Parts: sequence; structure tokens; C-alpha cells
Amino acid sequence: MTSLVIKGLRAAVAGTEILTGVDLTVSSGEVHAVMGPNGSGKSTLSHVLMGRPGYEVTGGSVTLDGVDVLSMPTWQRAQAGLFLAMQYPVEVPGVSLLDMLHAVSDAGAAPLSDLSSRLQEQAAAIDFDERFLDRPLNVDLSGGEQKRNETLQLGVLRPKIAILDELDSGLDVDGLATISRRIEHATNADDLGVLVITHYSRLLEQLRPDHVHVLVGGRIQASGGPELADELEETGYAAYLPAAAGAVPASTGADPFADPFADPLG
Ligand code: ADP
Ligand code: MG
Repeated sequence: MTSLVIKGLRAAVAGTEILTGVDLTVSSGEVHAVMGPNGSGKSTLSHVLMGRPGYEVTGGSVTLDGVDVLSMPTWQRAQAGLFLAMQYPVEVPGVSLLDMLHAVSDAGAAPLSDLSSRLQEQAAAIDFDERFLDRPLNVDLSGGEQKRNETLQLGVLRPKIAILDELDSGLDVDGLATISRRIEHATNADDLGVLVITHYSRLLEQLRPDHVHVLVGGRIQASGGPELADELEETGYAAYLPAAAGAVPASTGADPFADPFADPLG
């Protein structure tokens, strides 16, 4: 049983504080969805968790089974069992997926003695064309192919906790179903804990989350079960935006334009 525990996490990018106190715990076998409008800090959270340069932690803590993650370089975080599928996977000309996974294996991050067979098995599981295995990583791949590529890496490396940033973007309906099934399977078979980031509930219809969190303004404004994602699909994020008076969730039925200082009995 592994737990990624995020407490009061604050972080700045280019001198602006984007994360303003994130609290979240993801444990083995659980699927947590973080939803929020564009620019709310979702990708920033994923980059900070993985230690991307340029993202400065200004407060709070992140631990994996009690061990401080924030003091580790990115490769050590990966070795400890964290995995990030990036919203925009990086193109690496000259390096194939196979080269990359061999390097990971050589670094001792994952015992991949049966690398080739695992790759083939995982590629088949998500209908990923094997000719991509020798091609330069993510170069000239369509959005959907890139996301399959990320999922393939997850299947081969078997991390403990996976952060999936907009894994649905670029995937067609069939791709979405295939990828969701694969990840769902990992939560059962490998006890993978998942932090799935999306601004769109389409993915969550396939990959049903145990918990849904609303990230707005760099912090979690509300948490609930899968029904919260359905509710957001209908109402949008308006109720959580600072512009909505008192930021009252729409589900309470409260009038967002009501005078917050009015006497409730008057
Ligand atoms: P989301 O993924 O929720 O759409 P992001 O985390 O990507 O949002 O971005 C949150 C805010 O931080 C945005 O206003 C964005 O412009 C800003 N931001 C993110 N990364 C950088 C960066 N590297 N340099 C400058 N601003 C950034
Ligand atoms: Mg993003």
C-alpha cells in the first residue's frame, strides 16, 4: 500500500504563485480526478509533483510513503514509483521508445529483464502499432498516438502512482475506451494509484474515479464522489470561480447574486 500525500502545496512559476495550498492524498488502487477550468493550475500541479525545472515550491510538502519527494531529483521520483503522462509529451528526436525504456531499465528504475516481451504484450493491450517502438519518441505522432505511447510506458514500467495530465486529449472514442480499460486494469492488477487530471468529464465516464476534486485558483475548492464530475458537466465551473459571489456551489441552489451580508432570517 503506497500513499502520495500532498499537504498545503504552494508553487510559483515565473514569479507568480499558481498553486496556493493543495491538499490531496492518493493511495494504491484509488482513482482521484482533479478537474478545473483552463489555467487553474492542473498541469502546474503535475509538473511540481514530478520536479520540472522552473516550478518553484514555495510551501507545503509532498511525501511518498512518508519519504520527502520534493527534495528528490526527477529521476529519483520516477525510481520511487511516480509516473507522469504529460499533457504535451516531449518529442525526443534520435531516441526511440525502446532506447528510452532500456535506459530506464539500466538505471535500475524498473527490472525489465523481459523488456521486449512486455513491450509487445502492452502494445497489443492498447492497440498500439509496434512500428512506433523503433521510431523517435513522440516525433510526428498524432495526439492520440502520443497518449497511447504514454500509456504503453505506464504498462511496461508499472509505477506505484501515476499522474495522467489530460490523457484524453487527442484520443478518439475507441482510443479513450481502450486506454481507460488499461488504466482501470492497472488499478486492480498492479494496485496502481491514479491522479487523473482533466477539464472534461468525458474521460471519467470510462475511467470512473473514486474521488473527484475541483481545482480552481490553485487550490482544491470542493471534493466529492463521481457524481461531482457529472454535476460539473452540467453546471461548469462558474460556481467555483472568484467572480461568482461567495463562490457558492451551484448544487446548493443558492442564488449567486444574493447579498452575502443579508440577514438570513430577514
Ligand atoms: P491548467 O493545466 O489547469 O490549464 P496550468 O497549470 O498549465 O493550467 O497553468 C496555470 C497558470 O500558470 C496559467 O496562467 C499559465 O499561464 C501559468 N503557467 C504555467 N506554466 C507556466 C510557465 N512555464 N511560465 C509562465 N506561466 C506559466
Ligand atoms: Mg493543463
